[in-house]
Amino acid sequence: MAKYEYDIIGSEYSDTKDVPKDKNIYYRCGKCGESVPSLPKEKIVSCNCRNIHIDLYYWRLAVDDLAKFEVLKKRRIGRQGVKP
Ligand SMILES: [Zn+2]
Repeated sequence: MAKYEYDIIGSEYSDTKDVPKDKNIYYRCGKCGESVPSLPKEKIVSCNCRNIHIDLYYWRLAVDDLAKFEVLKKRRIGRQGVKP
């Protein structure tokens, strides 16, 4: 079974338009700790406390508190489970 790790690739953004999105990029909320995919299958997604809100109808990312917001990249660990 494949295993994954998450690397923090960005935080302390001043504007959500600078935030990257990709199929292996996730957003983590520092308030409730939940991670949400940057390209979710659902059209509207938010974390448990609604600090992060994604609306794919308008391709809009809204974050109430950007200080409590991190961008993570999902990285596959080798099949043998070898860590670098
Ligand atoms: Zn939250």
